[in-house]
Amino acid sequence: MKNVILIRFGEIFLKGKNRGFFEKVLYINIKEALKRFDLSVKKIPGRYLICDYEREFEEEIIERLKKIAGIFSFSPAIFMKTNYEEIVSQSVEFMLDKKGTFKVETNRADKKTISLNSMQISADIGGKILEKNSNLKVDVKNPELILNIDIRENCETFIYLNSIRGMGGMPVGTSSTGLLLLSGGIDSPVAGYMMAKRGVKVCAVHFHSYPYTSISAREKVEELAKILSEYTGDLIIYMVSMTELQEQIHENCDDSYMITLLRRGMFTVAEKLCKKFKRRMIITGESLGQVASQTIESMTVVSEVVKSTPIIRPLVAFDKCETIEIAKKINTFETSIKPFEDCCTVFLPDSPVVRPKLEDVLKEQKKIDFDEIIARSMSNIEVVEIKSK
Ligand code: ATP
Ligand code: MG
Repeated sequence: MKNVILIRFGEIFLKGKNRGFFEKVLYINIKEALKRFDLSVKKIPGRYLICDYEREFEEEIIERLKKIAGIFSFSPAIFMKTNYEEIVSQSVEFMLDKKGTFKVETNRADKKTISLNSMQISADIGGKILEKNSNLKVDVKNPELILNIDIRENCETFIYLNSIRGMGGMPVGTSSTGLLLLSGGIDSPVAGYMMAKRGVKVCAVHFHSYPYTSISAREKVEELAKILSEYTGDLIIYMVSMTELQEQIHENCDDSYMITLLRRGMFTVAEKLCKKFKRRMIITGESLGQVASQTIESMTVVSEVVKSTPIIRPLVAFDKCETIEIAKKINTFETSIKPFEDCCTVFLPDSPVVRPKLEDVLKEQKKIDFDEIIARSMSNIEVVEIKSK
């Protein structure tokens, strides 16, 4: 017998003809995420199996598995060649240190090796567990623990307790590619996580206004990307300066249009990056009505610069507290709330336009050499590679 981890897929099951592709990508992602451990990943019908690992790393492996999109659930299990005596003794030993209510559930696909039916097996093993452990009580309706005995056709048996929920969703790399606008705030890392969960391979762009924004602000973004990369896999960040654009707007335009024009600059660069690096969508952390720049009027005049790339806003209907809940769950929250300035907070106007009109925005934009400034920003991009842990 040996210890293994049994992995169940999520929505992959829904994908009739493409199932092979989805399973293959998930297999590669699991191998990649666990590459620092000495172990093997095997495919068995409808499942994956993690084998040959050191028990002391089991907890760490479990934590890592929770961050792989496409895994529905998994269970640390005992795996053995089917032999009834052995199944009984392993089940009893498995339950020796447990307490509370339990039941045994048996699935017997192999009708040849064992003559008892599944009900009889459950009753027999349940009774033997009780004989050895007086801290347990049987409750067939609503037990705290379910001991599963899965006797498979090919003479192999798995024994495991309740399963652990995985991240769900679809394997990263099965739903195209996206460019995440990653600020140092709470929302954008959550937006990136949500699209990775839908199978999108994400890379990021961060806009800074160095020297108005500090090196610490940039380090914060890299720290966020590092946490995010546990879900997305290795992550590239394109660092783009908005300093000249902001200075020019500040000197030449009506200050209340600072954020609108800056954001038009960001989205223009984002689409150019998408074209250059073959990214199929722009992803942002915008949520309708959250701030002046996120009214539908602001979003409309800003999106107007993007011609042929979909802009995906996974948080558009979220309340801040719902986003914060996810940020805490994925562990980005504590980093996001570190107090460093973002380029949106540099030259912040006293009263930004809340419902800008396109004609007014274009009039302001004409006061600067918008296209040339953007071209200069594009010619000076720094690429930072973030390696997933
Ligand atoms: P966040 O918490 O993600 O910063 P926010 O609520 O502060 O969002 P805004 O500052 O208006 O809202 O930004 C809206 C979205 O625009 C962000 O979620 C992000 O996708 C993008 N964005 C804002 N600032 C930057 C930046 N400096 N670099 C890259 N993207 C940015
Ligand atoms: Mg922000």
